[in-house]
Amino acid sequence: MSRCKYCNALIDWVQTESGRKMSVDPQVITIIQDNLGDIEGITLYGQQIRGKLTYMTTPGAVPVQILHFKTCKARNKPAQKQGRRPS
Ligand SMILES: [Zn+2]
Repeated sequence: MSRCKYCNALIDWVQTESGRKMSVDPQVITIIQDNLGDIEGITLYGQQIRGKLTYMTTPGAVPVQILHFKTCKARNKPAQKQGRRPS
């Protein structure tokens, strides 16, 4: 685990399917795949998917980690919406 050089948050590094290393938030969330979803995550297998936050018990739910640049406080504008709750 390392720290973001912009906001000093703890981050993990994952390798995507295409071989790129990306920084992600350490916590794992579960999303349901949806091309119109507002969350871009990387699965444990390095697959980048988009979806909506959901419960672990939802059929088809996929555990992912969120790309850190999406949540980085130092790199996002203050107007950024906070809070992620299942809809
Ligand atoms: Zn950051």
